[in-house]
Amino acid sequence: MTDIIQLLPDHVANQIAAGEVVQRPASVVKELLENAIDAGADDIKLIIKDAGKTLVQVIDNGKGMSVTDARLSFERHATSKIKSAEDLFQLNTKGFRGEALASIAAIAHVELKTKRPDDELGTVIEIEGSTVKSQEVTVTPTGTSVAVKNLFFNIPARRNFLKSDTVELRHITDEFHRVALAHPSIAFAFYHNGSELFNIPSENYRQRVVHIFGNKTNERLVPVEEDTEVLKISGFVGKPEYSKKTRSEQFFFVNQRFIKSPYLNHAISAAFEGLLKDGYHASYFLNLTVDPKTIDINIHPTKTEIKFDDEHTLYAILRSAVKHSLGQFNIAPVLDFEQQSSFDTPYSYKDKAGKAPTIEVDRSFNPFADEGSSSGNTSSKSTSTRTSFKSVPTANWESLYVGLESKGNRRQEDDVEVSFEKEVKTETIFSDASVETSKTTFQLQQKYIVSTLKSGMLIIDQNRAHQRVLYESFLKHITIKEATSQQLLFPLQLSFTPNEVNIISELQEDLEHTGFVFSDVKEETITITGVPVGVPESEVSIILEQLISDVENDVPDASFSAADLLAKSMAKSLAIKNGQTLNNTEQEHLVNSLFACKEPNISPTNRPTFITMSTDDIEKKFM
Ligand code: ADP
Ligand code: MG
Repeated sequence: MTDIIQLLPDHVANQIAAGEVVQRPASVVKELLENAIDAGADDIKLIIKDAGKTLVQVIDNGKGMSVTDARLSFERHATSKIKSAEDLFQLNTKGFRGEALASIAAIAHVELKTKRPDDELGTVIEIEGSTVKSQEVTVTPTGTSVAVKNLFFNIPARRNFLKSDTVELRHITDEFHRVALAHPSIAFAFYHNGSELFNIPSENYRQRVVHIFGNKTNERLVPVEEDTEVLKISGFVGKPEYSKKTRSEQFFFVNQRFIKSPYLNHAISAAFEGLLKDGYHASYFLNLTVDPKTIDINIHPTKTEIKFDDEHTLYAILRSAVKHSLGQFNIAPVLDFEQQSSFDTPYSYKDKAGKAPTIEVDRSFNPFADEGSSSGNTSSKSTSTRTSFKSVPTANWESLYVGLESKGNRRQEDDVEVSFEKEVKTETIFSDASVETSKTTFQLQQKYIVSTLKSGMLIIDQNRAHQRVLYESFLKHITIKEATSQQLLFPLQLSFTPNEVNIISELQEDLEHTGFVFSDVKEETITITGVPVGVPESEVSIILEQLISDVENDVPDASFSAADLLAKSMAKSLAIKNGQTLNNTEQEHLVNSLFACKEPNISPTNRPTFITMSTDDIEKKFM
């Protein structure tokens, strides 16, 4: 038999990659705008014709490219932004995959003009479907202009898949909003079919929000500021009385990158609890800054989803920061747009830069645990936990008298000065051992579960492992079409846009096989009377929002399996988060369920769920 495997030619590989990166004209807009920002531009123009079907052009005044770089930029995996895999955890740029230009050039007619500040002349390159048609010297201003014409000219199926101009333009406008909001110091202009839709100067964040969403927005904004060791928050939430029926004004930016996170969104809803009318959604425009090392951006080609090292703590900080602001500012007088926002703040907040408000973060809060284990907060490092930490010793005085029948992890908080590595819980190291003799696992950094093997050591990623467990169980329920559901005391009404309701109704049958019971799915509301056993009512909105976002992000013509997508999405929403403390029983349960899975070693998104280290490996390290 002859060998049958062959390497795909580059232009075919590029077309396949394009399927993931470029779903519609808006994807091109996003990639080109991001490249302009990465090039250090402070003035960017976006020019669109026929909702991007005929032309998407971005002109920037950034650093431009050399003749060679201009040609190389269209190669796949050609990037100036990272050099090694380690750089992935230090990202300060929007792009890093080196795929966008190659992908776009595979499925459109592209003209690139570029010149560096010190060069006399620039370069112009024309490419059609990955073939370079010409490369010449040209006179052009400093910076780069990329014009993308006739998108999907060589993939008619994809071209036909495009929606009406109105819909595609809305997607483009959404992308534009996101990029412009993330970069208020950059001036932007946006033209569609010759008319100017936006022309916004370099400005502060408040002005940017108001320029994009209209003058009326100004009086609705409540500033949110928080600065902790792990997370810095700045931005605004909308006053409750101005909440909207749609979720169109909900923006999270993490390190200046727009992201979607139903889980963090839930933190905001929790902060607004009791303040919103049924079916209304809070508006928010929040910038979160975290150490790039603590996030993974490389989990989705469009980079709108990221994975946090400690999502659990971020949730708590976010919720309490927003709550605090609502309390502080809800009664503040209407703010004047001409003033700097620092003048608008009440006297006690004027010099807020220096002192971050203290908030209570229960780092060890764990909804799965019983009360005993959530009092184990011994982290004394973070200033933000100061208040909660003071109260800990008192609480535990009692437990000293109660004695050992309270759970092992109740003790030893008198030892509050102990500051081990940030996340290590002293009680999991010592006190449990005195009660439970057969301890085989422990938790590391509230992220990994470490266990011993005959041959060495096993380290499990708690989030990925749990995703695998849930994924297999949901998939089973969906395919054998039987699941138990728990009846809700009161029907739960959730509101969505008609488009979102459509997505849910397409998946309704599969959802019912997981245990959901819908009494009504119409226009803008979904009424739920039953949920899968074990799913808390409060998580239902997270699940459905995540599901909608996953469906929207899915590649339209890839081999789409609704059941698989649903199982993956629900597993993602419900899996134990990083940063969540697990007691011993929970740890062991997770380990056992993981190894009862069909494919225990990878997560539903094909990442390793655990690693092992043999005694040999360990011994070598001691040599
Ligand atoms: P990535 O952004 O992931 O690096 P791209 O395919 O988007 O990949 O771009 C490839 C490379 O081309 C970039 O790394 C950058 O060096 C260069 N480039 C792209 N657009 C611009 C631009 N507007 N100005 C300057 N350089 C650019
Ligand atoms: Mg790029």
